[in-house]
Parts: sequence; structure tokens; C-alpha cells
Amino acid sequence: MARLLATLVAALLLVATPAAAQLPIFDAHIHYSRPDWDAYTPERVLSILAQAGVRRAIVSSTPDDGTLRLYDRSPAGIVPFLRPYRTREDMDSWTRDPAVAAYVEERLDKRHVYRGIGELHLGAQDVDAPTVRRIAELAKARDLFVQCHIDETTVEKMLTTYPGVKILWAHAGMSSTAATVGRLLDRYPMLWVELALRTDVASDGTLDPEWRALFVRRPDRFMVGTDTWTTSRWEVVRQATAAVQQWLSQLPRDVAEQIAWKNGERLFPPP
Ligand SMILES: [Zn+2]
Repeated sequence: MARLLATLVAALLLVATPAAAQLPIFDAHIHYSRPDWDAYTPERVLSILAQAGVRRAIVSSTPDDGTLRLYDRSPAGIVPFLRPYRTREDMDSWTRDPAVAAYVEERLDKRHVYRGIGELHLGAQDVDAPTVRRIAELAKARDLFVQCHIDETTVEKMLTTYPGVKILWAHAGMSSTAATVGRLLDRYPMLWVELALRTDVASDGTLDPEWRALFVRRPDRFMVGTDTWTTSRWEVVRQATAAVQQWLSQLPRDVAEQIAWKNGERLFPPP
């Protein structure tokens, strides 16, 4: 009986032990929007990220002031992206709103700190819309990434309509398969992909074989992310990052390091 208990305790300890070595994380999808400001001070947010092992993060927010509040406290740790939405209501109408284009241009001119524009939401029918076009022009002229939460049809239309614009594809399209993502990466050199909220990459904790093969084949094109799209997400940043560490540990070390942080460091070198 004592031996059985000892075995059980040993098994439980194994389960509770964190997976392998923890990699530093470059998180490509963080928001610090208005509803978050009352619940979490910038200092608290920075400490949550640090405790989760996030070394640097791409941050955008509605409105943009949240991003700058974090950036001004941690210029080395925050990679600011300019979100065009002044309020949540802009999400529905921004693609055809000239005031949004003027707002983006004005903010870019005022603070020369942005490394990208986004996160943007649009459908295939909006790719040609005037404010989307203006943002693509600004991004190209200033060598900025555009982070887009769009489906696979829309991402391909963005890449063909605006060649030369670097697209960071949020959530790998949210539901696109590894086969589709791989085909797009092979065809479009201006496409990079982040995996925020894609728990299906390792749904039961084990890395899906098709995603694994794609990560090994294209390790330089992926980043991880959390997406604090609603305030309650700040409570699970640590958990979500631990789940990512779990599947990263199932990849060859050099592949895991690229996806965890080296791609972020290369694409967005510290100021
Ligand atoms: Zn988001």
C-alpha cells in the first residue's frame, strides 16, 4: 500500500512539473483598450506580461492612447501598433471613413514609434475601400506591418491588391488549416502569421502533426500571441502562455526559439 501511494505521488508530481525549459516569449497580439484601463494600471499589465514570461509584445488598443501608455513606461518591451479605431463603433465603418484615414496619418506623424498598423478587421469586399487603400499606402511608404484579423480569401486579396505591404495575419485566419496557411506562406513572401487563440494547434496539449510539419518547414514565418481582446483575458495570460510553452516544447529547439521570440526580435528589432 505504501509503495502504491509512493508511486501515485510520484506520478502526480510528474504531471504537476512544468514542461521542459521555458522560452522567452515575444507576444504578437496584446490589446490594452479603454475597458482595461480601470481594471489594470499600466504597471500591473506590464507585470502580468513579465510574470507570464513575455519579454516583448506587440500592443494595439481602442483608442490608441492605451498602447502609448504602456510604450512610454516600457519602450524596450512594447512594440506599438496603431489601431485605427477611435472607439469600438469605428470597427463597423472604418474601411470607408476618410476621418479614420486622417486620424491614422496624424498619429503616425505625431509619434514616430509605431512599428505597424492594426489590428484591423475587414472582409474581402472591403479590400479596395478607400481607407484600407490609404492605410496600405502609409504602411508601404513607412515600412510598417499591417496586422489583419481576416479570413483566408481576404488575406490573399490583400496580398495581391497591395504587393509590397507586409501583412501580419492575426490568428492564422482563426480557422484556416495548416495546409492553407502553408500554401499562402509559400506563395506570398510578405506574409507572416501569428497564432493567438489557435488552441487547435495543440488541442489536447499535443502538437497537431500537420501544424508541426508546417512549423518545421517555415519556422521563420510564425509568432505566438495571447489576444487580450476583452478585459477578462488579462486573468489568463499566464495560463495561455503556459499552454503555448507546452506545445513549443514539442518542437526542435531551434524551431521553437524562432516561433517563441526570435522572429519577433528579427522583424521588430528593439529601438
Ligand atoms: Zn485582437
